[in-house]
Amino acid sequence: MQESDSTAAQKARNSDAEGNTMAAITDPYLREQLERRRAALKTTISCIPTAESSASATPLVDLLNEVDSAVRRMDQGTYGICEACHETIEKERLIADPLTRLCLDHLTGDEQRALERDLELASQIQRRLLPQADLRYRDWRIHYHYRPAGVVSGDYCDVISPASNDGQLVFLLGDVAGKGVAASLLMTHLHAMFRSLSGIGLELDKLLEMANRVFCESTMAGQYATLICGRAGQAGEIEIASAGHFPALLVAKDGVQQIGSTGLPLGMFATSRYTVRRVLLDPRDSLLLYSDGISEANDASGKEYGVNRLSFAAGARHGLAPKELIAACLDDIEQYSLGIRPADDQTLMAIQRASSVV
Ligand SMILES: [Zn+2]
Repeated sequence: MQESDSTAAQKARNSDAEGNTMAAITDPYLREQLERRRAALKTTISCIPTAESSASATPLVDLLNEVDSAVRRMDQGTYGICEACHETIEKERLIADPLTRLCLDHLTGDEQRALERDLELASQIQRRLLPQADLRYRDWRIHYHYRPAGVVSGDYCDVISPASNDGQLVFLLGDVAGKGVAASLLMTHLHAMFRSLSGIGLELDKLLEMANRVFCESTMAGQYATLICGRAGQAGEIEIASAGHFPALLVAKDGVQQIGSTGLPLGMFATSRYTVRRVLLDPRDSLLLYSDGISEANDASGKEYGVNRLSFAAGARHGLAPKELIAACLDDIEQYSLGIRPADDQTLMAIQRASSVV
């Protein structure tokens, strides 16, 4: 009989509603991780001076035995099976700790509390990476809404102000494949990468191409992210490029224009190319970006909210300031999906050309 879920197990599971998203990471990856740990342990043990070897080496030798035992279990086909319930251990748990022998439900009380603390810390780190809530630069006004479905989020949202006053404001909104801790780690990876790359003066298409190459080389197979990256310049001009993300919505006075994707998601192919679209915003026009948690919010019957309904909701509120526009869109989504807890992370960002520079 299955024991009732611990809080830690529930939290970890909520933050990883698609627990099988790491399926592409195969056992060779875990074996490589174990081999690496074994090599590092052997090197460290061999460096301990003989005089103090027994006291210092004992815990390391114990650890080495554990690694050897894990490799043996892998050879025997019993690796990754919980010793308490004989069910498969969550793959994410194995990636985080390849020596673990218990599934989430069968962690000890101390281990569960440690997991809760780790998740809470991951959530705090992620929140600190978010940009300022109400940003102003020249005649641009930006506001966003960021709501993880679990403790941590796989959505990525950033606004990078230029180093000098004649530079351009960079805005980004993306969605990492999967959910939970693994997706949130990739989100922090995107954050660091774009913060570094956006300062070196690349054209927008080259910026995405380079980010894609770096992302391909530093992530594991099967991990990718869709993303929109834009730059707000002078006199209402915006450059925009998309790596397989949902269309951005240009909310203008005479209607809403969907600006579709021009490239493949980041992390799929190292050779991906991206093209840049240029749009001109009149004063009071807005550009709206969102993650799939918004467009794929469900109603009671499971029907999706959809990009068209979001376009309609935003189009009817042309001219609203970003904060009000976002609040109105969220209101519409909430009315649509009444009573249903969002299954996915929700992020919405509005960039408006204000009527005058204040
Ligand atoms: Zn178990």
